[in-house]
This record gives sequence, C-alpha cells and structure tokens, in this order.
Amino acid sequence: MRSVIPTAQEQLKFLKNIQLILQSGSFSSTYKFALLISLSRLSIEKGEDEGGTLILEYIDIAEKFIELYWKQAVPYAFHEDGQLILNQNNGKQAAIVNQIILLRQSYSSLGLLRRDTSVWLKLLKQVAKTVKEMPVRYLQNINSQNFEFLYRLEYSNTQLTLLPQVMYCLRQFSEIIEELCQKRWIDYIRKNNCNAPILNKLPNLEQFMFEPSRNQLNAVANVLVELQECKCFYCNKEIKRNNYAVDHFIPWSMYPSDTGHNFVLADSSCNSKKSNLLASDEFLHKWQERNEEQDLIIVDKISVLGFLTDKERSYKVAEWAYEKGKENNYLVWYGL
Ligand SMILES: [Zn+2]
Repeated sequence: MRSVIPTAQEQLKFLKNIQLILQSGSFSSTYKFALLISLSRLSIEKGEDEGGTLILEYIDIAEKFIELYWKQAVPYAFHEDGQLILNQNNGKQAAIVNQIILLRQSYSSLGLLRRDTSVWLKLLKQVAKTVKEMPVRYLQNINSQNFEFLYRLEYSNTQLTLLPQVMYCLRQFSEIIEELCQKRWIDYIRKNNCNAPILNKLPNLEQFMFEPSRNQLNAVANVLVELQECKCFYCNKEIKRNNYAVDHFIPWSMYPSDTGHNFVLADSSCNSKKSNLLASDEFLHKWQERNEEQDLIIVDKISVLGFLTDKERSYKVAEWAYEKGKENNYLVWYGL
C-alpha cells in the first residue's frame, strides 16, 4: 500500500518546523547541522517519492557525518602553536572531529581509510554512537520541549525511523535544507571565538568547508582524461590542452556531495554552458552507459582519491534529480 503524499499545507508546515529548529534550537556543536544534511541526503539516496516511513541505519548516518567532517578536519593553517583546525564545538573540539583528526594522520584520504575495513568499521560504530546520543537526541528539542516531527526517539536499536511524510518532504526540500544548514553551520564556525585565529586566513569559508578541493578535482580530472580519451563528455570533441573542467553530471547546486560516478570531463565551453542545469535525457543515458561500462575503473581509481563511489546510490540521486526537474519544470541543457 502506498502511503499518502503530504498536502501542500503539510509540506509548508514541515518547512516551518525545519526553520524553527534551526532558529530556536540551541547549538552547542555543529552536529545538528550535519544530522539534518545527512537525513536529507539519505532520503534521496535510499528513499522514494511517497509518504511512507524510511528506516535508516545509524551506520549510514555515521558515514555521512564522516564525509562531512573529514573535509573540515584538515588543518587549515600551521601556526607556531601547531595545527589550526576549525573548532566545531563550544569549548573543546567535538569528539567526532577528534577521532577523524587522529585517523587523518595515518590515512591520506577517506578512500584509503575505507579500504582498511576494521579501522573503518570501528570509526563508523564510534561515530554512530555519538550521533545517537547527541544530535539525534537533541535536534527536536526546543526550549526543553520535545518537538518530534522528524522521528521518534527509540533508545534500543541500531536504526532511526523517519516518521511518515518526512522522507517525502526531505526529498522535496533538500536544496533549501542543505542551503539553510550550510549557512547556519558557517555562521556557527564564524561566531565561535576559538576559530578567530584561523578565520583571518580563510578567505572563502564556504568553499573550504563544503566544496571539493582543487587538488582533489585535479586528481579526478587526470583519471577522466584517460577514461574519456581526452574527449568532452558532451560534444565528444577532442579537448585542447588543459582546457577542461570536471563537471558534476547531477549539478552540485541540486546535490552538494561528491560521488565518483557523478564526475564527467567536459571542455570549458560545454562546462560553462551546462552550468548548474540538468543535461537532457540523451546525456543521462550516455552517463548511465559510461558508468555501466567503466564502473570497476571508476570504483578503483576514484574511490582512492577519497570519494564515495557507489553506482546504485548515484543512480538513485539521478532518478530523484530528474524526477524533481520534470515536476518543477527545471531548465534542461541539450548540448551545443
Ligand atoms: Zn564539449
């Protein structure tokens, strides 16, 4: 039986509630932002456009946390007193960040850490425990009142069940939720006094915290140049020396998380014309074909650079994006 899709009024109410917890909730660390972003991304990767519940494993939520904090746990600057790393907590550094900082000393990329299965699983379990005890418990707390509209607290299991209609609304409003959470997260970092010595040296905080680094993208480009024999994914023309860009097939503005299968190489001209539009269905098929044929190489060569590479998850994201594009009449790019 398919559950009922929330009415327009119920959807607005949901959005208001998200705004309320972001505005009136108390934030002793940045975990709550990470939790909302994680729930929203997992609803896209694992959910459907229907009004039912969605059961999420804490381990999967933990993985999203690690991806978010891995990037931000890199020392931004070196100081005579040692490394400067953004403080994500009121007071001492947040526990999850400390665990990641420690592992970053032994693993140069998230991909390498993932390959060390026992260490990776241990980290996932530790992070899952913190997520369950901290942000999951307090996210829906406003002025000490429990205000459960996303999930009900259950202490005994390894899963979090989103209430009916929540998955639908998170999928519907994920772009807004991502943007709101990122803005609030950045504000939190700015206002945290511990970060003052770093912020002077960070001209673009947003980019540092959430966007892939230039070095990482250059490494992806090198892989793609070989895979595509230096031809543009869209117009198929030979790319002249260095005149290329790594393009997010599903635009970053729709889904701001890097996954290995989402990258294609485009010449600068196609890349700038496509901009943050969805490409036509024809390109969608071409992209899926590319991923079927070259799945193993992508998994092998791009995961080691630190990106999640899971073809099925990328397809779920694409399915969501194209469905959303049709529903809302987003502009589509046809090439040329
Ligand atoms: Zn082109």
